[in-house]
Amino acid sequence: MPEKRIILDQIDNPNSASIDFYMSLGGYTALKKAMGNMSRDQILGEVKASNLRGRGGAGFPAGIKWGFIKPDAPGPKYLVCNADEGEPGTFKDREILQKKPHIMIEGMIIAAYTMGLDAGYIYIRGEFYEPLLAVDKAIAEAYQKGFLGKDILGSGFSFDLYTYRGAGAYICGEESALINSIEGRRGMPRLKPPFPAQNGVYGRPTTVNNVETFAAVPSIINNGGKWYADLGTPKSGGTKLFSISGHVQRPGVYEIPMGTPWKDFFYDICGGVKDGKQLKAVIPGGSSTPVLKPEELEGMTMDYESIASKGSMLGSGAVIILDETTDMVKLLNRILHFYAHESCGQCTPCREGSDWFYDIIHRIYHGKGREGDLDLFENLGKNIGPNTICAFGDAFVTPTLSFIRKFREEFLAYIKRSDSAAG
Ligand code: SF4
Repeated sequence: MPEKRIILDQIDNPNSASIDFYMSLGGYTALKKAMGNMSRDQILGEVKASNLRGRGGAGFPAGIKWGFIKPDAPGPKYLVCNADEGEPGTFKDREILQKKPHIMIEGMIIAAYTMGLDAGYIYIRGEFYEPLLAVDKAIAEAYQKGFLGKDILGSGFSFDLYTYRGAGAYICGEESALINSIEGRRGMPRLKPPFPAQNGVYGRPTTVNNVETFAAVPSIINNGGKWYADLGTPKSGGTKLFSISGHVQRPGVYEIPMGTPWKDFFYDICGGVKDGKQLKAVIPGGSSTPVLKPEELEGMTMDYESIASKGSMLGSGAVIILDETTDMVKLLNRILHFYAHESCGQCTPCREGSDWFYDIIHRIYHGKGREGDLDLFENLGKNIGPNTICAFGDAFVTPTLSFIRKFREEFLAYIKRSDSAAG
């Protein structure tokens, strides 16, 4: 099955970020169609029919999320675009932000119109300086053309859009931490419920979606929800962007239909393992998802359900390829260093547990491993994931356990030759 470029269509053109080029491709016709010919219920119906699921990682159906907001409810309501792409291995939103920001902005305006929202924030990762400039320029262009601001296209609907730059915390990709950050508070996740649809930005109803989710909306409105749904599988509609990195022949960002066989994606589109080496393992959805061995990839297709059936997750669509030379102990050491650094520290099991996990792997990697260290990971893991405010606990526990269970011999070999085990 080949690539299917909808969001990425013409993204490599040097002018792809400009509004004139975007409009020459039919950009903003979906907005005109939605505002001119469709009721809010009709738009919502198409988004529900499209089977579009949130592309940030959780995969929650976008149409259902939009349906939580009552367009006629009094008082301000907000839209947030989560552009805080920070999961190690993920770099697909950056492509949209930097090279085709108008497709996301058009999707946001349609979303805001459908839900009757007053203002929107694009929360953009602090390190994404060039994408920030591209998005700010695109917002200014959209105001100039009358797609943002007061009485958009004479519809009577007004909507303002702002960028908000994060300060580099991984946890601000979690929607409630992101909302705290927009409000000027520390970027720490909130207990849920209440969810953002009831109590979001400044305590007001808020919808948060990912960059790629918004970017899918214009094609859904132009072609119909059923058209989009039929591109994918019965439970995962449309196309999906995957960023693939590591020991792969052709790394990059690819857009493929949901349900594309793994083998077609990896071998035909991405060229397989680099330099003719053997495949050792794949992390299919970013560093917080469990690692898979080659035999587990048999029959897998690139969609939420199939990857879950193999014991991992599609996550943010960040595929990391590991060849036969990969030292799994060294890799886990690097991953756990990241999570120990990024825990927001709000809850004890995560704050202490992420440091403890890193201490264990660090000593194994540096020749100080102890007998029982792998059991210690298992025991600690049981007490971290279920006892935390957000999913960050699971984000470092589940990949760790998958590493030590599937590559146990490598970890034991490190421990056996360590000073403390010997002495
Ligand atoms: Fe913060 Fe970790 Fe608790 Fe999430 S689980 S709120 S990151 S301390």
